[in-house]
Amino acid sequence: MTIGVVGGGQLGRMIALAAAPLGIRCRFLEPGAGPPVAGLGEHIAAPYDEKDALDRFAEGLALVTYEFENVPVASAERLAARLAVYPPPRALQTAQDRLLEKDLARRLGIPTPPHRAVDDRVGLDAALAEIGLPAVLKTRRLGYDGKGQAVLRAPGDVEAAWAAIGGVPLILEGFVGFERELSVLSARGRGGETAFYPLVENRHREGILRVSRAPAPGVTPALQAEAEAYARAVMTELDYVGVVALELFEAGGRLLFNEMAPRVHNSGHWTIEGAETSQFENHVRAVAGLPLGTTAMRGQAAMANLIGTVPDPARVLAIPGAHLHLYGKAPRPGRKLGHVTVRGEDAAGVQGRLDQVLRLL
Ligand code: AMP
Repeated sequence: MTIGVVGGGQLGRMIALAAAPLGIRCRFLEPGAGPPVAGLGEHIAAPYDEKDALDRFAEGLALVTYEFENVPVASAERLAARLAVYPPPRALQTAQDRLLEKDLARRLGIPTPPHRAVDDRVGLDAALAEIGLPAVLKTRRLGYDGKGQAVLRAPGDVEAAWAAIGGVPLILEGFVGFERELSVLSARGRGGETAFYPLVENRHREGILRVSRAPAPGVTPALQAEAEAYARAVMTELDYVGVVALELFEAGGRLLFNEMAPRVHNSGHWTIEGAETSQFENHVRAVAGLPLGTTAMRGQAAMANLIGTVPDPARVLAIPGAHLHLYGKAPRPGRKLGHVTVRGEDAAGVQGRLDQVLRLL
């Protein structure tokens, strides 16, 4: 079986590496030259919205999935007209728009930060009057790693924020004084069966994920159950197939929905070594109609992203329990070039190994 993957970054690379032992090949549609998936499957180098390329890409595939969420919905729909596309294009459409995804969460009874749509400068004042300060102004679409957003702390910040990101559809959110950021990775198969990974704690700097800890320290069974209930509600509503990530804020013992990613996710990379079945394998199993694998953890784990530069591999690998993943990307400031996962039997052991990794970065 050959599955099509739209996108050819590190997520596509790790999907292909998980698919291979299952006898499943991947074909990638990715406009860039020399992408991280190079050598891991057939690569069709063309823009995501080129109709001829989409048709060539689809030829003979069992199904199509994607490894990034800004695939044009029209392209996903063109593919869906001739073969199975998982997750469904509607999930893609919802996750591409911060307003649609938060409205979906609200409809499902999942708490979110207070938010209002902002379509113009007058609308921004109206939204500020309702939400108050501090607040976060974000573009509805195409924001990632903290790009396309501005924190408004005082009335004097409003003009600069508008000048920086105004002119496109926006969303204004109340600023949440959260204790920490968590995420939950979940999978849903074609028959509606589900699997959930333990809540992960995520630390960001400059809007970029730096470290994930699994399981998130101090999570109660009730909090885990709450996260799973939210993920299940989203997946059921969207008739979802594949892995989905929900990014959450923990504030005052509650979870608030921040955003969803309709794909495998950076906060789940630890599952390659740290779980019985990785998020990548479970994504492949789900879309291919195979039974989902157990998500049980193998001890505890933490992951550190390699941003902008790569440390000496030999020094990383000299750390007990450390696993190095390089994506084959040219170094550039702020770019995710790889990650290191450390495993151990308890939180203290994992922390000690993580500290050793962090000292190399
Ligand atoms: P996002 O792209 O929406 O995930 O936002 C990037 C980061 O900005 C998040 O990981 C949070 O650290 C922060 N952030 C986003 N929305 C809010 C909010 N409503 N209140 C406080 N911090 C936020």
